[in-house]
Amino acid sequence: MEARFATQKEARQEELEARFYGQLLGLMSGILSGIGSFLNSDLFKRTPEGLALRCLGQQEAMQVTAEVHKGVCGAHQEGVKMRWLIRRHGHYWPSIMDDCIQYAKGCQACQRHGVIH
Ligand SMILES: [Zn+2]
Repeated sequence: MEARFATQKEARQEELEARFYGQLLGLMSGILSGIGSFLNSDLFKRTPEGLALRCLGQQEAMQVTAEVHKGVCGAHQEGVKMRWLIRRHGHYWPSIMDDCIQYAKGCQACQRHGVIH
């Protein structure tokens, strides 16, 4: 009777431990997936190649667009090439493609020098 009681107690203990670790694992994976979606949506965009691109705010995005276009990476790049360069530098924002094309189209120097975008 004594032995059986001990076994039951152990079984109960194991059950409690299993429940505790189960909850702990659930909590951990919840935190990890939270971090994952944080990385994916808020500050970083994960590319199919596994790179984490930093998401820029509107002001910073405009600045990077201007810098890339005006010659940090070569003189007066056209829109699609600009987007490629910005991504290569690890930057991202949702309207990156449109902004690059619009910026290139609106560039006075390019219109003057007859660069076709
Ligand atoms: Zn230009």
